[in-house]
Amino acid sequence: MKHPFIPYGRQSIDEDDIEAVIEVLKSDYLTTGPTVEIFEKKVADYVEAKYAVAFSNGTAALHGACFAAGIGNGDEVITTPMTFVASANCVLYQGGKPIFADIDPETYNIDPHEVRKRITKKTKAIIPVDFTGQPVNMNEIMKIAKENNLLVIEDAAHAIGATYNDSKVGSIADMTMFSFHPVKHITTGEGGIITTNNKVLYEKLIQFRSHGITRDRSLLNKSEGPWYYEMQYLGYNYRMTDIQAALGTSQIVKLDQFIERRRDIVKQYNNEFSSLKELITPFQHPDGNSSWHLYVIKLKEELLTIDRKQFFIKLRKARIGVNVHYIPVHLQPYYQEFGHQKGDYPHAEKLYDRILTLPLFPEMTDVDIQYVADTVKAIINEHKVK
Ligand SMILES: *Cc1c(COP(=O)(O)O)cnc(C)c1O
Repeated sequence: MKHPFIPYGRQSIDEDDIEAVIEVLKSDYLTTGPTVEIFEKKVADYVEAKYAVAFSNGTAALHGACFAAGIGNGDEVITTPMTFVASANCVLYQGGKPIFADIDPETYNIDPHEVRKRITKKTKAIIPVDFTGQPVNMNEIMKIAKENNLLVIEDAAHAIGATYNDSKVGSIADMTMFSFHPVKHITTGEGGIITTNNKVLYEKLIQFRSHGITRDRSLLNKSEGPWYYEMQYLGYNYRMTDIQAALGTSQIVKLDQFIERRRDIVKQYNNEFSSLKELITPFQHPDGNSSWHLYVIKLKEELLTIDRKQFFIKLRKARIGVNVHYIPVHLQPYYQEFGHQKGDYPHAEKLYDRILTLPLFPEMTDVDIQYVADTVKAIINEHKVK
């Protein structure tokens, strides 16, 4: 019997989630209303941050963070090439210039030494990414930021629920972004959020999310009457709806359970692969706990008679929804127009050539896990260098 297709990631939706959304559909508010505020409070409490501002998606949230950080024309922002394009695009939206710094070949996260090398007078911020859910070296990143008067916007799209030195990711950087896309840990359909402990940044984020408009009397230049509001910045309509927030509020209750199941699956994969010298299993952070968004294996191609591409095709033929995270951003055609070249970030490029993302999501069954592990092992056995 053929095993059914297993995607690399997938949402978990139960009856409580469905009920929560239906309840909002019957209420007065569909767009940003009381449920968005409840969701923001729950996320802020969960990550132990003072404030949270929900956005229509994670990319919009990153854009908001770049605005709040004061990124403008010509400002440089340092990020990793081993990420989704959104981590760099948000800088371009503000007229800034994304600067890449290569990764640490062991952790796959941005290398603080490389960050230091790329700081110039124009550098305004750093956008580190917790790749796969492994927290980035925030001690070093925050130190570099402090020494150079930079803001840190942590792209933690993979890392809600991760901890670093006993602090929750979301409470450490100046601003932290989480995404609620369906493949991420919890979902709102589309959605994102910024958490921060800084009131000034918080107020800018709130205003930016809704056209740059404020009605807050303490922020107005004058008052012409009770109807009066001011548009003080160029903002956008990046609001989250109460429908989305209802789903998020119902999902976050289950987040710890989801992460626990993800950890279990990782343990099972690691056990299955522990005796294989042909592949490298994911890095385990000594200073923190990953939230395990992705299970990325690295092939030792010198020990195999097939390459990553052939390995990928074989897994897909076995109906395993393997994926590759990520094509380094600087290699995208659009970024090549800015003069980035192959060879600029050798660690990221070398990693890209050898990685595969295996399925990892809470509703995977033990039978699914065994099927994936057995298929990977069978391919290796068939194609190992004798
Ligand atoms: C998912 C993701 C984003 C953007 O999230 P959206 O909610 O899809 O806009 C940004 N950065 C990384 C690393 C991501 O994985």
